[in-house]
Amino acid sequence: MARRPLVVGNWKMNGTRTSSQKLLADILAGLPDGCATDIGVCPPAIFIPEASAAVTGKLIRLGAQNVADQDQGAFTGEISASMLREFGCSLAIVGHSERRAIYGETDALVAARYAKAIAHGVTPILCVGETLEEREANATFAVIDRQLGAVLDLCGVESLQDAVIAYEPVWAIGTGRTASKEQAQEVHAYIRAQIAARNADVAAKVQILYGGSVKPDNAAELFGQPDVDGGLIGGASLDAQSFLAICLAA
Ligand code: PEP
Repeated sequence: MARRPLVVGNWKMNGTRTSSQKLLADILAGLPDGCATDIGVCPPAIFIPEASAAVTGKLIRLGAQNVADQDQGAFTGEISASMLREFGCSLAIVGHSERRAIYGETDALVAARYAKAIAHGVTPILCVGETLEEREANATFAVIDRQLGAVLDLCGVESLQDAVIAYEPVWAIGTGRTASKEQAQEVHAYIRAQIAARNADVAAKVQILYGGSVKPDNAAELFGQPDVDGGLIGGASLDAQSFLAICLAA
């Protein structure tokens, strides 16, 4: 089954108000007509309102880098899925490895964030992936089982009809060290097989993105793998020309 490719830029905590406006304007200006790839950008939250105005009526989807696990109330610093919706966000990254490692987000918290995104019609991009230590201990699949399992136990496999998965080996994020196409395909196929064991139709349809030092010169071979449906792009998404080249490779 043909799945539409999706490429999403994760700007993380980079840029200024002005540079973010320019980056988005340059991406919009460079998008070819009739681009067959779905494209999204996830700016820092404070830049979302302006980005939302800039992408209105355009082919770029807007996303957040996280989403609250609650609807509203005394949760200082959090942004709810319904607030994101109000500002035109249709995507939200959940469980990025930086959130898991630096801010201690557990599998249970990530699953709760994912659930709120789904409940409010925001597509969660669920990030999963192993550290170098875990890969060297042959624990990659066990880590995927645990991270994916937390979400499937809470929300059910059918929730993946409204979600995207991003396989992001932690050792490849921001390191310049990319998974080989074989390494990426192996884990993507594993993820799809785990989903297929619960629901083959959902497995055939769910987009599984690869993330980890994707650049214009390695994107095509990664995206050419049968179970790789696009990418979640960090560093290279901060440069409009690199990001556009990666989108075209998809
Ligand atoms: C990311 O942080 O999601 C990511 C993939 O980063 P980079 O492309 O910089 O490795």
